[in-house]
Amino acid sequence: MRSAKSKTEMASMNRTYKAVQVTKPGKLEVVQRAIVEPVFGQVRIRVEACGVCHTDALTVEGGFPGLTFPRVPGHEVIGKIEVVGPGVSGWKEGQRVGVSYMGGHCGHCEWCRRGDFVNCLNQPISGVHSDGGYAEMMIAQASGLAAIPDDLLSTEAAPLLCAGLTTFNGLRNSKARPGELVVIQGVGGLGHLGIQFARRMGFQVAAIARGPEKESLAKKLGAHHYIDSDAQDPVAALQALGGARVILATAANSKSMSPLLGGLAPRGQLIVAGAGGDEPISVNPVPLLFGMRSVAGTMTGSSIDAEDALSFSSLQGIRPMTETVPLADAVEAYGRMMRNEARFRMVLVTGH
Ligand SMILES: [Zn+2]
Ligand SMILES: [Zn+2]
Repeated sequence: MRSAKSKTEMASMNRTYKAVQVTKPGKLEVVQRAIVEPVFGQVRIRVEACGVCHTDALTVEGGFPGLTFPRVPGHEVIGKIEVVGPGVSGWKEGQRVGVSYMGGHCGHCEWCRRGDFVNCLNQPISGVHSDGGYAEMMIAQASGLAAIPDDLLSTEAAPLLCAGLTTFNGLRNSKARPGELVVIQGVGGLGHLGIQFARRMGFQVAAIARGPEKESLAKKLGAHHYIDSDAQDPVAALQALGGARVILATAANSKSMSPLLGGLAPRGQLIVAGAGGDEPISVNPVPLLFGMRSVAGTMTGSSIDAEDALSFSSLQGIRPMTETVPLADAVEAYGRMMRNEARFRMVLVTGH
């Protein structure tokens, strides 16, 4: 056994894979790396597709506290298990799996013991604490894996692991009930999925975006109402509809979120799913007190939540709008995403 393993290890040492790594803040480059073997509790994945997410900027620009380099970004990863490491059960070689932002819970911290895996204190964030999916290979924690429904293409499933999971979980964990008015602010990477989820969950759906251009798309995706925030006051428009039970704010712009509180019905929730810039969200206490409204946050989900988001998408025909780009062109894909030119999610593909 021992000699067999060292043979595998030696074979791996001679093999390399392509990865796109951040060498220092702002510097993303294509490199060859030596293939490594998974250790206890891990698997090695042959990556097929990886979505490019705005959160990757925290790795590429070096903004995440404690980040070390080199680091491979990417937390919307789909691929097939190539090697199952020691101590892993429930997953098999050749199985197609996904890895999202939360890289796998520890199982023993206080929040894991309470069953709140997304808040695990010892969880690696994919592409931040451990190398992510901008690569042909990735080592992942088995506790962070999600199974992929057969009818989803890898390029479709990838963005559902972050943009999809975030909006899906934000909505299903909210207080909104079927038929109530749910608002998706922003028709972009998150918003175009949020509208589809909200409609298929049975809500009355309003979308808010700037300008008239996105109206036909928002309605095609399932919005009953479209509010052009350049042409009308969103608060007045929402109050005219009776007030929102939930507003899911996906725009990476705090300033646009602050006034929305006034568009909530009594006991309504403003759920923040996007962050950008350093500007705080300012909250007027009056609508919090009178009407008992609230502001809350939502952050992706656990690996089983990711599996639920994928299953629901499969069941309801929900798909992201994507542009696929070869892994070697990751720098350009990242640039397009940062310049807000992606319609709506860039997905890197390895050709596997
Ligand atoms: Zn993301
Ligand atoms: Zn834990």
